[in-house]
Amino acid sequence: MQQHECDIAIIGGGLVGASLALALQPLVQRLGLQVCLIESHPPSEIQPDIQWQPSFDARSSALSWGTRLIYEQLGLWQALEQHVYPIQHIHVSDRGFLGSTHLDHQEQQVEALGYVVPNVWLGRVLWQGLQKAQSTRILAPAKVTKINFPNPDVAVLEGEVNGEPLQLKARLVVVADGGRSGLKEQLGIADQVHDYEQSALIANVRMSRPHHGWAYERFAADGPMALLPLSGQDMALVWTRPGQQAAADAALSDSEFLQRIQQSFGKRAGRFQKVGERFTYPLKKVRACEQVRRNLVVMGNAAHYLHPVAGQGYNLAIRGVVSLARSLDASATEAVVAGKTFHPGDLQTLEHWQSQRLGDQDGVIGFSHGLIALFANNLPLLGHVRAGGLIGLNLLKPARRWLANKAMGL
Ligand SMILES: Cc1cc2nc3c(=O)[nH]c(=O)nc-3n(C[C@H](O)[C@H](O)[C@H](O)COP(=O)(O)OP(=O)(O)OC[C@H]3O[C@@H](n4cnc5c(N)ncnc54)[C@H](O)[C@@H]3O)c2cc1C
Repeated sequence: MQQHECDIAIIGGGLVGASLALALQPLVQRLGLQVCLIESHPPSEIQPDIQWQPSFDARSSALSWGTRLIYEQLGLWQALEQHVYPIQHIHVSDRGFLGSTHLDHQEQQVEALGYVVPNVWLGRVLWQGLQKAQSTRILAPAKVTKINFPNPDVAVLEGEVNGEPLQLKARLVVVADGGRSGLKEQLGIADQVHDYEQSALIANVRMSRPHHGWAYERFAADGPMALLPLSGQDMALVWTRPGQQAAADAALSDSEFLQRIQQSFGKRAGRFQKVGERFTYPLKKVRACEQVRRNLVVMGNAAHYLHPVAGQGYNLAIRGVVSLARSLDASATEAVVAGKTFHPGDLQTLEHWQSQRLGDQDGVIGFSHGLIALFANNLPLLGHVRAGGLIGLNLLKPARRWLANKAMGL
């Protein structure tokens, strides 16, 4: 059996767990803490292209301007920048109705409204950062199957690492498993769930002309379609499909599929010329009823899983990541000043952190869900109201600024 002890154990080395391990570095180095990151897949760094880790798969993510600033603070932006594609304009429209709006980076006085980055590259940059992280032990492939809290000071994790039994003691355990492992259920943490009965179909597509930094969000009765700029004439497609339609569309031949998306999207971005492999993701709104307990935090998709229509899931989660690192840092400073021992699992600190995060979570979850509810409704009258709203947005600079700030995560 492998036995380890650490101050903070992070379960899951996906987008959120890996980001947290890096955001904790200043605290770890200042106080000489030990962090353990447990990931059930082999690191993408070590086995590129063989077995995709769930976070770092074929998707591309839209990172907001605010997330760029966080990556700069983490010292990762320079590495990430090699494969990011700026979003300079966003065109929002409603198929079948006249209204549309256009957000422009110059009007918002930023270099870009956001950036698109292939998740595989995000994973590579995060995991390269982890290789250099001090006092951070990485156990991968390793899996946590059980968490116990035998006394108020410590959590004991059980599982396996490289086929060997694993036992790990930690003062704070962070569940960043994407809600994939059943650990939350085992701890009796319930979820609030809204099933959209939709799936997101994603694929890379090649257009007949360069996108010049344009991203498109087109709402249609059978589901919104987003096109995000990638390299040259390539764009990332995220297409929300009802019920079983995603699987049926994913199974179409390339030429049938290209015809189908052309028909649904129209010609605004040019002709769809080529499509890569297609993947589907079932869509739900999930929110954990508890995100903190003594010695426990639930983060990222495990805490809140949202519809990708506005591309905000990770952008929201990383704000939680940096604010948790800051709260722990502040609590450590207070403990030192008061001559007390710092405990990273202190319930008061964790509850205070959570209360600070709730407003942002409510806002982003409500915004993403509201967009789906508003544009999913087929009532013709509502279509005209939406068209009026989009035209209004186009005419009113403050309204465009509000929408741009939502997109930029500000
Ligand atoms: C189609 C789609 C498009 C999206 N686009 C965007 C976008 O444009 N912008 C944006 O901000 N967000 C976007 N998101 C949301 C974003 O992908 C999520 O916010 C993000 O993946 C959450 O990461 P996570 O680390 O919490 O969870 P996950 O990605 O699920 O990672 C969890 C990790 O934990 C590991 N794990 C699981 N169980 C265990 C265990 N028992 N022991 C050890 N390890 C374990 C897994 O192997 C995995 O690596 C999108 C989501 C979807 C579905």
